[in-house]
Amino acid sequence: MPGFVDAHVHLAWAGLAAGAPSVAACADRASLLAVVRDAALRRPAGEWVDVVGYDQRRLGGHVTAAELDTAAEGRRVHLIHDSGHACVVSSSVLALLPAGVPHRDGLLVEAGAAAVRELRQPYSRAELVDAVERAGRQCLSEGVTACAEAGIGGGLIKHSPIEAAAYQEADRLGRLPVRVSLMVSADVLRPVGAHASDATPRAMDLGLRTGFGGDRLSLGAIKVFTDGGMMARTAALTAPYTDGSGSGELYADPAHLHAVIADAHRAGWQLAVHAIGDRAVDVALDGFEAAGVAGSGARHRVEHAGLVRPDQLARFARLGVAAVVQPAFLWSFGDDYARIMGEERAPWLYRGRGFLDAGVRLVGSSDRPVTTGAPLVAMRFMVERRSSSGALVGPDEGITPMQALRAYTVDAAWACGWEDTVGSIAPGLRADFAVLDDDPLETFDSRVRTTVQDGLVVFGESW
Ligand SMILES: [Zn+2]
Repeated sequence: MPGFVDAHVHLAWAGLAAGAPSVAACADRASLLAVVRDAALRRPAGEWVDVVGYDQRRLGGHVTAAELDTAAEGRRVHLIHDSGHACVVSSSVLALLPAGVPHRDGLLVEAGAAAVRELRQPYSRAELVDAVERAGRQCLSEGVTACAEAGIGGGLIKHSPIEAAAYQEADRLGRLPVRVSLMVSADVLRPVGAHASDATPRAMDLGLRTGFGGDRLSLGAIKVFTDGGMMARTAALTAPYTDGSGSGELYADPAHLHAVIADAHRAGWQLAVHAIGDRAVDVALDGFEAAGVAGSGARHRVEHAGLVRPDQLARFARLGVAAVVQPAFLWSFGDDYARIMGEERAPWLYRGRGFLDAGVRLVGSSDRPVTTGAPLVAMRFMVERRSSSGALVGPDEGITPMQALRAYTVDAAWACGWEDTVGSIAPGLRADFAVLDDDPLETFDSRVRTTVQDGLVVFGESW
């Protein structure tokens, strides 16, 4: 088959997490602290020690800064919670935080955890090259030959202000295993004095924009955040979560978001607007509407489109906006998401058939490392609509195996502007293939045996 295209990933984040010591297997505090100690003593004093895989529920409570201080002999420990919304740090990290950042014995949540990430940054280019290469190799092992990195240079998920340089360096060194389209955070747009006829009030430096680069590394969409996520109950909804945690929140004033969308559209950017809750989806669609994108041929995308009301489907179609979904979210977290949405809304979660029937382009992606990156897991969910516990989530949204395969190949390539490069097997396209040991249209238990890129075996068996 064509190599899979994953239209929304976080390579640097995935690679940093995969390369960091993990406490995920630790069942008690003593074993967790032993992993922290081992990790810390491998690092020179004064350097950061990132440890991942933390979940206090296995320990009967959080570890404390004092415990980390003893284990790590005073080094800067950053113990990262699996949710991505919390961490525990050692005293030497607490000492670096600005005054007034609240913590409880070293535990920081939400804005506090973000403040620690801000301190931790920037990562070096060398660290990022290592991380991108590691994550890229993981992609190849899953048959993924091309992907879109969903946001560099700013916002919640940046790692360095010169993040693109790490990708360029990885490519130069032959250490960029997959084709990458880099989405750029809208934070990098700034007012410029371009010629009036260029309709470019805001631009990235030098006027670089979507499409710059080649078939191994290029600039993709501009990324705009409108809301949070369902795990943290911060996805913005029109009606509250059923567990009493409110209705989520918009990340910015809609008028501001609409101005960014309009300016970026006029300047020739593809837009990738992160919108998970139905209220955020309204904000995104209102922005596209106001910018006059309908019929423009621009390939704008809504990232996630996690909860989409029936009345919103036709609007996606009319505006020509693609839905870039992450079906494996529901495989991993579907039981929880269905519960917090309630009976009426659960079938609107990460839709499949609803989009296709309305004439909306459905694009597959993973958001790795938030959940598994394996396309076959996501495709299985798109067809069967069963979570990992076996529970059905919106079974009417199930699609055919061929439609799921299209979402992860042809249509994902289209969403990244790569339909003349990858995503299908045809004369003139790059020779990127995945060889499976069984027919994915018959069984999702098939395994990726070999991945081929530009006609060369880059993973698995040759023959
Ligand atoms: Zn993402």
